[in-house]
Parts: sequence; C-alpha cells; structure tokens
Amino acid sequence: MRKPFVAGNWKMNKTIEQARVLIADMVPGLQAIPEVERVICPPFTSLLAVSAMLAGTEIGLGAQNMFWENSGAYTGEISPGMVAELCKYVILGHSERRTYFGEKDVTVNRKVKAALANAVIPIVCVGETLAENEAGQTAAVVTRQIKEGLQGLEPAQAPTLVIAYEPVWAIGTGRAATAEGANQVIAAYVRKPLAELYGEVAAQAVRVLYGGSVTAANAAEFFRQPDIDGALVGGASLKTPDFTAIVQAAVG
Ligand code: PEP
Repeated sequence: MRKPFVAGNWKMNKTIEQARVLIADMVPGLQAIPEVERVICPPFTSLLAVSAMLAGTEIGLGAQNMFWENSGAYTGEISPGMVAELCKYVILGHSERRTYFGEKDVTVNRKVKAALANAVIPIVCVGETLAENEAGQTAAVVTRQIKEGLQGLEPAQAPTLVIAYEPVWAIGTGRAATAEGANQVIAAYVRKPLAELYGEVAAQAVRVLYGGSVTAANAAEFFRQPDIDGALVGGASLKTPDFTAIVQAAVG
C-alpha cells in the first residue's frame, strides 16, 4: 500500500516572517491528518525558520531545487549536502525550472542521483507542454522524461522516489487535467517506463502525484484514481484552509 502524499510548493512566495505566520497557521490542522505524508516546500531563505517550526512534527520539509555538485565555485547554487542538513525532500525538474532555467532530463538525472546519494528524497516533476499535448506528443515526452531523468539509479533506490505528473498547461492556469486523463498518463507513461527501468515491484511502490491547478474542490476526484497517490500543490498550498482540505481529501 502506498501512503498518500501531498506536498505544497510555495514557489517564489513568502518572506521569512510571512512563512512563519503561514506555518503557524497551518501546522495544527496538518498535524491532525497523520494518514497522509505532508510536505511543505518553501523558498531556500525560509527553510531554516520553517525547519525549526516543524521540529517535533511529522510534517516534512522540502527544497524546490538544488545543484548536483557537493561544493565549489557555483555561485548562487545550493548543494545536496546543504539541502540534506534541513530537508527530507527536494523538488527536481519542475516545469518552471525547465522553462526558465534550461533544465534538461540529463541535468534532472544528475540531481536525482545527487539527492539520493545524500539521503534526500527527490520529488521528480514530469509533464508535457500545451504545444506537445496538442501535437499528440504526451506519451513520447513523459516517457522520455521518466527514462532519461531516472536512468542509472541503484535498483534499491527506485522505490523511494516520488514522481509528480504535472501537465505544464495545467500549472497555475486554473485548468486542471481530468482525473481519468491524468490517471491514464501516469499508468501508461510513468509507471510503465518505470517498470521497464526497475521492474514492476518498484514501479508499483513509487508514489506518483498529480499536479496542476489542484484545489480543495477537485482534489478528491484525483485521489480516487488508482494510480494517483496524492498531489503537488502550488497556488492552493499558500492558503491554510485550501491546503488542509486537499490533505484531508487524500485520506480517502
Ligand atoms: C506546481 O507548482 O507544481 C503547481 C502544480 O502549481 P498550481 O497548483 O498552482 O497549478
């Protein structure tokens, strides 16, 4: 059985003080839902403050990105070891990283390996753009992102991964995918290539999330799907009632 998993991606929002206020507001409600693995991913600048506030809770902390090298002359970057000091998780390959910062499957792959080597669990994002979707390329794009982004792992590492299928056209647009459509993509183009890489047992153990305009109103529909184990939530993770309701919906 896969434990439901809901992560909030705050993106580039909240100062340290604003993060403290939101975490203080959110934690009591989230604490009351232990059936779901709950993860919050604030900006780097707030990780230390949020980590102190989450100490003693079972709510996980995640970073939104990291570099693959351990240290050195990489101005502006954060290493896997630095992330590991504070975080259990790291979001990798988010479509905004791919679109605005030139991330490719090969760099996502390096980061995934570096995260795992430092005992940080990657939440790996895949998903097709609107143009790719309209050109009928969803299968090819998502399969490639899984195969190239996740190749070469130790077989024992594969089941610990978390993957988020996030169609780019659904992110921040208010236009979510249909639950059935997302489930089909996950079954055919996420779990199947994963099984080809690491075997059926690993592919069935991996938690696969849906992401893209998930709200308190539509979350339950996604969570009813057999291959969807939770959500990666952007906008709605910045509002306590919405995020708490999404986590609650994942209880089933
Ligand atoms: C995201 O940032 O991963 C995301 C899914 O955003 P939103 O929920 O706002 O569409």
